[in-house]
Amino acid sequence: MTLPWDPTSPPVQPPPGCRDGQRWRIAHTLYTQHRLEDSDTRCRCGELWPCPTYRHAIRALLTAYLQAGPVMIICPTETAICRWCARTIVSHPAHGWVHPHDGYVTCDRPHADAPVATTAEPCPADP
Ligand SMILES: [Zn+2]
Ligand SMILES: [Zn+2]
Repeated sequence: MTLPWDPTSPPVQPPPGCRDGQRWRIAHTLYTQHRLEDSDTRCRCGELWPCPTYRHAIRALLTAYLQAGPVMIICPTETAICRWCARTIVSHPAHGWVHPHDGYVTCDRPHADAPVATTAEPCPADP
């Protein structure tokens, strides 16, 4: 998935194409409240960087960009195991792979090698 905005530096205003501007603004406020402090290891909230709230904010920004309201999985066409967090994911007709339990397209517990703001992705098939 290619985003027209940088997940490490999301714009204050919802970018063009954002599906849920209100959710974006709420998430962005949260995002700006959690920043890396000078120590290089801790967020200003005191948690180790990146703190859970910061990661939640990034996920919420991605979700706001991609969809309005909660993800409705009416009839998942396909299920798989996410390659990054090993949870079940389902193929949504409009949004691609999502984690059905929280509605997020991104992983909240990706493994250490995963890219920033990792999105749901099935395990690569065994060769
Ligand atoms: Zn924080
Ligand atoms: Zn995942």
